[in-house]
Amino acid sequence: MEAIDETAVSAQLDTKEAELRVGLGELNRPVEPGATIGFGKRIGDGTSEAIQRMADASSSQALSQTLEQVRRARVKLAEGSYGLCDVCRAPIGEARLEFRPWSVTCVEHAS
Ligand SMILES: [Zn+2]
Repeated sequence: MEAIDETAVSAQLDTKEAELRVGLGELNRPVEPGATIGFGKRIGDGTSEAIQRMADASSSQALSQTLEQVRRARVKLAEGSYGLCDVCRAPIGEARLEFRPWSVTCVEHAS
């Protein structure tokens, strides 16, 4: 495996973290006052709202998880274990790291 370009990886992690923070900020933004109150509301409107809220919650959870991985990857970079699976210590693989520089586990141990 090629030597890891720590500077490049670090920059990628920074970019990803900023992106995730924006995403989380938007998802957690409170609903505008009055936006959900209205007359002549049909049955079904509430349902699609509930579904949207659930989708937001689950993607917010996914973003938080990825943010955790980004932070973990940065620690691994500092401690010299970057590129190795947190579970089995096997190399994560260049292709996987290229696609997701914040990968902290091998494909087998990705949850
Ligand atoms: Zn593993």
